Amino acid sequence: MTIDKTLLARANGHCELCSSEEGLTEHAVAHSSASDIDHSALLCATCHGEMGQPTNINHWRCLGDSMWSTVPAVQVLAWRQLTALAAQGESWAQDNLDMLYLDDETRAWAEAGVAESDDDSAPTVDSNGTRLQEGDSVTLIKDLEVKGAGFTAKRGTLVKNIRLTNNPLHIEGKVNGIQIVLVAAYMKKA
Ligand SMILES: [Zn+2]
Repeated sequence: MTIDKTLLARANGHCELCSSEEGLTEHAVAHSSASDIDHSALLCATCHGEMGQPTNINHWRCLGDSMWSTVPAVQVLAWRQLTALAAQGESWAQDNLDMLYLDDETRAWAEAGVAESDDDSAPTVDSNGTRLQEGDSVTLIKDLEVKGAGFTAKRGTLVKNIRLTNNPLHIEGKVNGIQIVLVAAYMKKA
């Protein structure tokens, strides 16, 4: 596979996640409308092979550095892989995620890729990408109109003992004594 010269130059001939020079390949970052180098990253064989399925956990400590890349495609890969690691219970990955700021467009791109690869076992995550579990407590990060119930659940409302649903984007919880479906992305783990 011929690697795009501009991409090679941007990456300075190293894996954009771990800096390795072995088995470099052009990795198309999924679920973007374009396939130019702005939507690709130069990855080594290990990073390429384990993207989305991290098994060599220590290898992925490299994300603590590479997540600060100024290249959106690299930020997206780092965010997704950290999310996958956090879902496996790696607290350092969660700590990094908590620090990683993505602009709205980049974040939407990152999340779209995760949503597309979802299956029934996909984690339900809150607005910070923190995994939510059955029985957790969350707070609302914005006012939510509860349709049909005639009230607005205010930002900051604590919802205790949530339940997960079949849809990783939704949780169930009681607000004002009524069991309702809530959008996980508008919640923050308490
Ligand atoms: Zn690598």
